Order: sequence, then C-alpha cells, then structure tokens
Amino acid sequence: MNKSKFEGSCLCGSVKFEIVGEFESFFLCHCSRCRQISGSAHGANLFSKVAKLTILQGKENIKDFYVKESRFSTTFCSECGSKIPKDHGGKILQVPAGAIQTDINIKPNAHIFCGSKANWDENLENIPGFDQFPH
Ligand SMILES: [Zn+2]
Ligand SMILES: [Zn+2]
Repeated sequence: MNKSKFEGSCLCGSVKFEIVGEFESFFLCHCSRCRQISGSAHGANLFSKVAKLTILQGKENIKDFYVKESRFSTTFCSECGSKIPKDHGGKILQVPAGAIQTDINIKPNAHIFCGSKANWDENLENIPGFDQFPH
C-alpha cells in the first residue's frame, strides 16, 4: 500500500517540507491563543503520532515561539510569518492545515474550545459567499 504523502511550503517559499503517513485527527481550535496567532476565527491543525515530517529546505528560517508558563507554542517562517509543521519531540506531529498545498485526505473531526469563540463567530455558514472580493 502506498503511504500518503503531503507537500507544503510557507508563503515566501523559503521553507519547504513533506510529510509521509496518515493523520489521525484534524481539529478547528477556537481558543484565544489560536485566534490570536491565526488572526482568524480558529486554528486548523492536523495531528499524527506516526507521520514523518521532513524539512526539505529553509530550516534556518524556522522559528519557535513558546508562550511563557504554558505548553502553547507556535512554529513559523521568520521571513513571511507562515505557520510551519512542528514535530513535538517525536511524540506528535502538529501540522497547520493551510501550510499543506496538496490535497488533505481527512475532514475536520471537531471544533474545540468552543467556549472561547469570538463573539462574531456564529452561524458563519449562513452569510453570503463570493468567489472574489465583492464590489
Ligand atoms: Zn516564508
Ligand atoms: Zn487553540
């Protein structure tokens, strides 16, 4: 059986990576930290205990930020700020879904930390949609 392979990069293209193996979970996290670092309604992260991350180029541009006195961290390209996958001590691989440019073969499993949702984050599937910036 062929193993699943995913490819991705940051926005400026200096960091490129590939991931081989399956993801076990895909969570949309509405906690205040994920909202702050994503600049959006929620983070969108894939997790795997078995998939392997290989940084193909741009290792020197990858930076980690740890929130003091917490286990929360974020990994990003120091040139463009895009979020980059992180292998947490080989125990669990965390992959920001938007960093992957190939198709992802699982759908989100759950919204988490819903009690911390932004006050505007309600029934978003009911607002109008456009293919481009509306005029
Ligand atoms: Zn970059
Ligand atoms: Zn979160």
